[in-house]
Amino acid sequence: MGMSWPSRTLWDVRRMYGVRGLMNSGLSCCINALLQCFSATTELVDLLNRWQTQDESGDPYNVPLQLKKALQAMKDQHQHAPHYDFLNCLHHNYIYRQCQHDADELFLAILNLIQQQMSDSNLAAEIKRLYRIEMEAEIRCLECTYKQCVPTFFLSLPLHLREGKNKLEECISLFLSEQQLEIGEEFWCDRCDEKQPTAQAFKIVTLPSILCIHLKRFRSDRGFSRKLECEVSFPMSFNMAENDKKENPAAEMREASYKLYAVIVHSGSCAFGHYTAYIHSVQEGAWYYIDDSSVYKASWKEVQGTYGGFGRTAYMLLYRRNSSETVQESSG
Ligand SMILES: [Zn+2]
Repeated sequence: MGMSWPSRTLWDVRRMYGVRGLMNSGLSCCINALLQCFSATTELVDLLNRWQTQDESGDPYNVPLQLKKALQAMKDQHQHAPHYDFLNCLHHNYIYRQCQHDADELFLAILNLIQQQMSDSNLAAEIKRLYRIEMEAEIRCLECTYKQCVPTFFLSLPLHLREGKNKLEECISLFLSEQQLEIGEEFWCDRCDEKQPTAQAFKIVTLPSILCIHLKRFRSDRGFSRKLECEVSFPMSFNMAENDKKENPAAEMREASYKLYAVIVHSGSCAFGHYTAYIHSVQEGAWYYIDDSSVYKASWKEVQGTYGGFGRTAYMLLYRRNSSETVQESSG
């Protein structure tokens, strides 16, 4: 075959696999990468498609409606710019064009706007449940050992990274294990009746279908922001149960295996960066790398190239829970 003309290859990929690029418009790379992830989250697409939108059909500023339309338009090869109305809609919801965004903040902001603006509150709740990691924070007073349990939840799991080498499973274990809170973050102890040095641990109560992980690469020290280029290795599949080192993990944790299907990649610095995405197509069993309008077929080895150290680094990971387990459990 020899070398093929790049644009021809891109066109073929779009036609054959339905994975398509999105033009960069007003620094939209972050939104583009998120749209690729939303599009690959078929559970989300199905929920949005179930929504009867007669009441909102003409509303250009309704975020869930314009997201639904953008995700449908992305499947239509004749649509030149399937995401323009969505970008416009976000701009009117204070997520401005010509601005650099943080992918995790934007992800949470869009989920929040869906909750606020979707007329069908049951479907909105189902969308939230898709990502919702329910936890219990165990807060312990280090002075008198008094313990309080506070229910809490995350839509993306914020993982602290250390300089040097990190493993995803270790970062999750560290997140769940007991940590002493920093000065200024201490809790009020009801027994001591004053603010005391506090330790906090998280316990998983329920795990979602879609596990969104946020690798906290941006750190703020005394007003200066910097990006951690440290290495974070992550597996294609893993079992969350193995990360919870507690003696009595919840029943929920016995079977909790997840498979990676999307990675949001950040390159550059805090001040000037670019977002791209790796998406795994279930139908094709193949990875694609999407850099705005360009789509390339990729290998797992290339995805692993975003572990870190330099250049393009993984910033958000999207894992899908293995559904065959639940089938096995209910039938057995
Ligand atoms: Zn106390």
